[in-house]
Amino acid sequence: MMNQDTPGSAAEATGAEQSFAIALMQHLVVPTFVLDAEGKVSIWNRACERLTGVPASEVLGTLDHGFAFYDEPRPCLADLIAQERIGEIDSFYTTYDTNSSCQLGFHVENWCRMPRVGTRLYLAVDAGPIYDKAGHLVAVVETLRDMTVQKEAQLQLERLASQDALTGLANRRAFDVGLEAEWRRCQRAGQMLSVIMIDVDHFKTYNDAYGHPQGDACLRSVGSVLAGVAARTGDLAARYGGEEFAVVLPGINAIGARVVAERIRAAISALNIPHTGSSAAEHVTVSVGAVSADASKLAPNVLLLAADQALYAAKTLGRNRVEVAADPTSGNA
Ligand code: GH3
Ligand code: MG
Ligand code: MG
Repeated sequence: MMNQDTPGSAAEATGAEQSFAIALMQHLVVPTFVLDAEGKVSIWNRACERLTGVPASEVLGTLDHGFAFYDEPRPCLADLIAQERIGEIDSFYTTYDTNSSCQLGFHVENWCRMPRVGTRLYLAVDAGPIYDKAGHLVAVVETLRDMTVQKEAQLQLERLASQDALTGLANRRAFDVGLEAEWRRCQRAGQMLSVIMIDVDHFKTYNDAYGHPQGDACLRSVGSVLAGVAARTGDLAARYGGEEFAVVLPGINAIGARVVAERIRAAISALNIPHTGSSAAEHVTVSVGAVSADASKLAPNVLLLAADQALYAAKTLGRNRVEVAADPTSGNA
């Protein structure tokens, strides 16, 4: 059996002991495969057959095990260890760390296409080398765990935690995180960043006249317009709170921000949702405040404040209109 004092090293084993160890591995419920020193498959256990749909007879003695997990040719974790390409692990896996329990192995997590079974699985993978007494690599053992159900539950929870339940847009928390992320990205890229704040006009009287459920439906319609307008990668539309919405537009200057803000105002007006209690029009309208600045010159909360002030100006100037704030970094804002 393995020498207890030297974890990861294969001490001398009798033929009987080796057969027993192989039989044990074959019947493990954990999907496991073993590569020899040349990287060829020497063990592909039953659980691994079930997980991948690939029988051991197809891969034993070959270098072809990668196609059991991926459509495209690429190394598995065990290959990177066998080929001493540890430094490349982070370019193939986004989630990885060294397996601290034995300090010789690695742990990665990854979505795999599983071409043979035709499903996409999220696999947690542990792999580690085994050396002989002279310190030569004799094998690499890789074990796999199907974590798809847990991963999907986690992703669903993350989605729910960042989404506004009424409109499906990002909620306030996700907006704050997204604004910060886009601000950093624009800072690095030396780009302008625009923020637009939108507030439904006389919404209290809308609720009073048409009822809260119809008020909710109105907010959903406004949300759909915003989702359609903020559709580029990096754009972020959120329900900021109540009947107030916000949009982040990276890489857009004040001229562009005014165009988008006006498009939002016009599209919501064109929904033609009746609102007889509004002083601004016969239908639901919004007031919009926009601001744009060089992201490297100010913090995101300054941008938000300026957009909010522009929105306030749009309200006091009669509603159903767009106001664009002066650039807060120009000194005469
Ligand atoms: P203004 O034109 O100045 O913005 O006036 P307003 O009436 O829209 O503003 P005010 O802040 O007085 O009222 C906002 C209203 O929005 C009051 C609140 O009941 C309503 N509201 C906030 N959240 C929701 C919601 O989730 N559903 C519905 N139906 N109404 C909401
Ligand atoms: Mg309002
Ligand atoms: Mg409001």
